[in-house]
Amino acid sequence: MNVQTNIPLSTLTTMKIGGNANYVADVTSKDELQQLYQNSKKLNQPVYVIGGGSNLIAHDEGFPGLIIHNKIGSITITDDNPTATTIVAGAGEIWDDLVKYTVDLELSGIEAMSGIPGTVGAAPVQNIGAYGQELADTFVSCEAYDTTTDTFVTLTWEDCKFSYRHSIFRGEATGRYIITSVTMSFNKTKPEPPFYDALDKYLTAKHIDPTTVTVQIIRDAVLDIRMNKLPDPRVLPNAGSFFKNAIVEKWKADDLLNTYSDMPTYPVDDQHTKIPAGWLIETCNLKGEVIHGMKVHDGNAVVLVNDAATGYADLAAAREQIIDTVRDKFQIVLEQEPLELTLIVQA
Ligand SMILES: Cc1cc2nc3c(=O)[nH]c(=O)nc-3n(C[C@H](O)[C@H](O)[C@H](O)COP(=O)(O)OP(=O)(O)OC[C@H]3O[C@@H](n4cnc5c(N)ncnc54)[C@H](O)[C@@H]3O)c2cc1C
Repeated sequence: MNVQTNIPLSTLTTMKIGGNANYVADVTSKDELQQLYQNSKKLNQPVYVIGGGSNLIAHDEGFPGLIIHNKIGSITITDDNPTATTIVAGAGEIWDDLVKYTVDLELSGIEAMSGIPGTVGAAPVQNIGAYGQELADTFVSCEAYDTTTDTFVTLTWEDCKFSYRHSIFRGEATGRYIITSVTMSFNKTKPEPPFYDALDKYLTAKHIDPTTVTVQIIRDAVLDIRMNKLPDPRVLPNAGSFFKNAIVEKWKADDLLNTYSDMPTYPVDDQHTKIPAGWLIETCNLKGEVIHGMKVHDGNAVVLVNDAATGYADLAAAREQIIDTVRDKFQIVLEQEPLELTLIVQA
């Protein structure tokens, strides 16, 4: 096992901010993971697990312990019947490689989540989602190393308590589990309309008959839409959507619609409505603005690009300014989507 010392977190995260981690180790098996964790515990050394670093904001002071870089691989079909296929994927697999694998097999379930950066093991953490699909739709269970009991456990769909961009892994069980594999169930039916709004518009513009749509067509469409809408973190450092879409009470959204009739809204349930954070930020005329070295992306206002930030303080100042501006105009408080790479104090 290769343990490196004094590695800049800016090189391990797509926002490219952050001081040094004392140690970084790539882990490729469950045994290695357990050994490394127990060893760190004996040395009283804090541990933080990362995948692709695409949903993480590191701090200038770095991390005073060990970063475990999860690289546990393998994709296995564990059950296959005429209507469904079950797949177990190692937490260190690249998420989009898994999507491609399932689409090549003409399996449906995660094709609209093509192109999301990062690893399979991080997918349950924020219940990743895009273009009308989310991980919770196909998730069956995951295996994880339970750091409090030093055992490997299976967590069911119910255990994970998924909701919009949320689960126990970033809630009540933050830092407790290190996911080692994810089990998902895919079905063999063709994607059926109605499709997510942006996809539907894309298919119409390309004159694709919705009744002939395959999972491969959805994957290609999503990759094309994303390429035009989202900055490539290798060129423009960013962490994807910097803010979660706002979920507000329905009466409040209806009230805002009286003033902003063009405001996009999506029903969540009978009492709640989702409003895109990007629309709120753009309507505050912040699109394209550079605030404390962070640029509100020209193509998609929910994305903050590290244009010339000198460190975490710049990012925090830009975040506060955007949150304040949106709150003053709409009385809605935006929430940051990426997690912060800090010491975790377990409950
Ligand atoms: C350009 C761009 C576009 C994006 N688009 C989307 C999108 O459409 N939809 C969406 O939902 N997200 C999107 N994201 C966010 C991000 O890609 C996802 O959240 C992804 O799942 C993060 O994976 P990662 O491996 O990079 O996780 P990391 O950033 O490394 O980690 C994120 C969190 O998960 C934890 N974690 C990582 N691996 C494990 C593990 N094995 N066990 C336990 N905890 C773990 C970490 O401790 C951390 O708290 C986008 C990001 C970028 C940069």
